[in-house]
Amino acid sequence: MNLTAPATIANYIGGSLQAPIGGKYMDNINPATGKVYSQTPDSDMKDVEEAVGAAKAAFPTWSTTPAEERFSILNKIAQLIDDNLNVLAMAETNDNGKPLWLSKMVDIPRASSNFRFFATGIMHFSTESHNMENKAINYTIRQPIGVVGCISPWNLPLYLFTWKIAPALAAGNCVIAKPSEVTPMTAYLLSIICMKAGLPAGVLNILHGGGPNCGSAIVSHPDIKAISFTGSTRAGRDIASIAAPMFKKVSLELGGKNPNIIFADCDWDKMMRTTLQSSFSNQGQICLCGSRILVEESIYEKFKAEFVTRAKKLTVGDPLDDTSRQGAIVSKLHFDKVLGCIALAKEEGGTVLAGGNVVKLTGRCEDGLFIEPTIIEGLGPNCRTNMEEIFGPVVTIQSFKTEDEALQLANTSDYGLSATIWTQDVSRANRVAGKVHSGIIWVNCWLLRDLRTPFGGFKNSGVGREGGWDALRFFTEPKNVCIEL
Ligand code: NAD
Repeated sequence: MNLTAPATIANYIGGSLQAPIGGKYMDNINPATGKVYSQTPDSDMKDVEEAVGAAKAAFPTWSTTPAEERFSILNKIAQLIDDNLNVLAMAETNDNGKPLWLSKMVDIPRASSNFRFFATGIMHFSTESHNMENKAINYTIRQPIGVVGCISPWNLPLYLFTWKIAPALAAGNCVIAKPSEVTPMTAYLLSIICMKAGLPAGVLNILHGGGPNCGSAIVSHPDIKAISFTGSTRAGRDIASIAAPMFKKVSLELGGKNPNIIFADCDWDKMMRTTLQSSFSNQGQICLCGSRILVEESIYEKFKAEFVTRAKKLTVGDPLDDTSRQGAIVSKLHFDKVLGCIALAKEEGGTVLAGGNVVKLTGRCEDGLFIEPTIIEGLGPNCRTNMEEIFGPVVTIQSFKTEDEALQLANTSDYGLSATIWTQDVSRANRVAGKVHSGIIWVNCWLLRDLRTPFGGFKNSGVGREGGWDALRFFTEPKNVCIEL
């Protein structure tokens, strides 16, 4: 199979590649070079209408296709993703600016794992039965919902796109999916893979376009019965306000401002190595990055000295270069936002201990969007820098004296996605994990993911959980059948 990134991306509707009905396109820019390298459809309501028609036509057959057959097609998609690792990784890096080694090691392998995991999951999915002694027996059946919408962001493009699509398809739904307009290429390449894998026409439809036109047309379409969304809290709020009065099922995976709580008894080397990753991986553009680092007072100065020294040594460079630890920021809009946040931190009285500047590269990347890993201290928990999501290579450090103070600082946030705790004291780890208001807690590790576990946040970080049975339950409707004996 010859998979190549084209100059003009097409929508995937009813099993074939199609130009947007309105004929409009947007520039797709490589953030490492600043150059336009392809055109992305700027789809709208008309394209959504056509995709919904195709999905509705495909639903009766797909929803009654035996699980074993769905398993087999989804596994084939996983295999084709693996077979095309290099092309997909290059497309992800060109769209997003992340180092190529990261796309190859994490993003693309995780996309095939998502398909393989939910292909297998649907073979083991079961429902409950409730026996009323001699009176009656209840059994629950779970049926696919129908046509569902999946909308994803730019930070982990194919990884998060497939995290939604795979369970939706495995459960027997037909899908209208939209990747971020900022990183459309791997979703386009997935269309070709699905055609090659024999996914029946209309079962998955991939539309490209912006949030206000294409995304909101998906959310407000009356025949799309559930929306699985990952993205900003702002867009999540808009989506909830449209979906709620239509009584749609909604899963919202939103922003974060995650605390990284470091106690003096931590395993120092592991903590330091992992904290550099949890601060700056993917240029800090992972919803699970720890952006508020809280350090016990007795080790604060030692932590600060080593963390700053090591952050300054992280090479910011061409994403195609194996030695680059940091690549480009995803877009000019986001680059300006991150620089604005650094300026705000200074206005609020913060001291920049490392970074804070634009990195100017030469050659191919001379017009690229690069920012140094940035560490800020001297700000209290309630300032905007510590309350608002930056989603870039910028972290703050604060010190605490007691466990209670650490918890208070950690929980001073409108977000509650994830938290990391560093201590060798098991009792304290359990105690603190129980009291931090976040949906995902890592103790002495970060980003260690078991796809069976519930994934999602408290407070402004979202509603609902993805992963494992939670995802398959979200994409099915339970129905209880009661039979009197
Ligand atoms: P975004 O909200 O701007 O866009 C996400 C997607 O939603 C894109 O496909 C976009 O086109 C679409 N969209 C935007 N507005 C819409 C609307 N009104 N209706 C329908 N669709 C709309 O987010 P982004 O900038 O692409 O991604 C960064 C954000 O995503 C950060 O806040 C980050 O924390 C969050 N995120 C969360 C998780 C998680 O699992 N909780 C994972 C990754 C990223």
